Amino acid sequence: MSPDESCGICGRTILAGERTRTYMSPKNGPRLVCELCRARAERLGWVDPAAPGANVGKRHPQPGEAPHTRLERAVSRFNAGEAARTVAGLMRSLGEPWVSVGAAAGSPSEVRITVAWELSWYQWGIDLGDELRPAFQIDKGNEVEQLDRSARQWNASAIEGGQLVLGAPAGGRERNGEAVG
Ligand SMILES: [Zn+2]
Repeated sequence: MSPDESCGICGRTILAGERTRTYMSPKNGPRLVCELCRARAERLGWVDPAAPGANVGKRHPQPGEAPHTRLERAVSRFNAGEAARTVAGLMRSLGEPWVSVGAAAGSPSEVRITVAWELSWYQWGIDLGDELRPAFQIDKGNEVEQLDRSARQWNASAIEGGQLVLGAPAGGRERNGEAVG
């Protein structure tokens, strides 16, 4: 019985004699990874059990990774994708939203982003355990009161282009980076 001999990253069939490594995928357990995909596997948080100090099987964030860093990663993923363009489009008609970025209940690798206006709100999830997965819409609704309290902790704001920035808008909603003149 041999497992499926293909690279867990690129899906390519492993050729006879090709060097591979087995990485622990946080979601799928041990997977073969071809030589070309090792850097990518490591960026995705896959762990090489042969590497010194590897924490195999631990899904928790690394000790050095503060919650704030997780939120920053989630925000930059959001900003790079289609969801930010959706927010930009909504901002053109609805103005500046309230924004909340926080951990999703019961899912340690997921960050929940809530963008709300007076009469509508949208919620996206960012899966930090799967770098290739774009921000996915979780829910939307019409009244902010529908949101649970943790989703109404407005700890971020949105600027031009639907780009989210962590940190509550200070007083007069500063627009950093916008040239004046
Ligand atoms: Zn590969």
